[in-house]
Amino acid sequence: MKLILLGAPGAGKGTVAKMLTKIDGAVQISTGDILRGAVQAGTELGKEAEAYMKRGDLVPDELIMGIMEKRLQAPDCEKGFLLDGFPRTIAQADALKALLARLGIELDMAVNIDVPREVILDRLTTRRTCANPKCQAIYNVKSSPPKQEGVCDKCGSPVVQREDETEAAISHRLQTYSEKTAPLIGFYEKEGLLLNVSATSSDAVIAAIQAKLGL
Ligand code: ADP
Ligand code: ZN
Repeated sequence: MKLILLGAPGAGKGTVAKMLTKIDGAVQISTGDILRGAVQAGTELGKEAEAYMKRGDLVPDELIMGIMEKRLQAPDCEKGFLLDGFPRTIAQADALKALLARLGIELDMAVNIDVPREVILDRLTTRRTCANPKCQAIYNVKSSPPKQEGVCDKCGSPVVQREDETEAAISHRLQTYSEKTAPLIGFYEKEGLLLNVSATSSDAVIAAIQAKLGL
């Protein structure tokens, strides 16, 4: 499957993407994970992206398109991909459309995961992330804490609150989402690719996607 996952920060795009990878071998491509990995590795890309990310601002479209142009041509994308956190602006969506046409790739759909704002706020303030850039497993202090407090179940690295998950950065990220990313819902509706799912459980989102794709 070749899907775009849309939704506010905290809507569950990453969780849904991870669950979908187990269905048919499609890979998850999270621009947030790629960027956090680059920041921690101290690469040129990481240095350019870091300040934007800390503030909860979007990284410039050109940097993102540079990453995605390469990533989408990697051999592991042949079985399919789940775009998690990309595109984030109309400019990125336009550039992606042109890129996919050039590569001869056709999307199945763009899934909008629609979750009430109260749920989003609660999830983001209680979310914790594995600090290991190669792992980045996600936990929640209330609903899914690691077995041992502060330690990742999967790799043993510290589990921390992301720097952009302070209250100020969260409200800025949500505002950026409403202004820059929410318009993509209309964009993909016009393209005839939109599946809107209002559900707070990831299982329900997966079921809706499977039903639509006939899986
Ligand atoms: P979220 O939980 O907000 O969906 P992500 O992990 O997707 O978080 O992204 C974290 C940060 O990385 C964003 O706030 C932004 O600074 C940057 N980022 C990720 N993807 C993109 C993108 N497609 N375009 C611009 N910036 C991005
Ligand atoms: Zn880990």
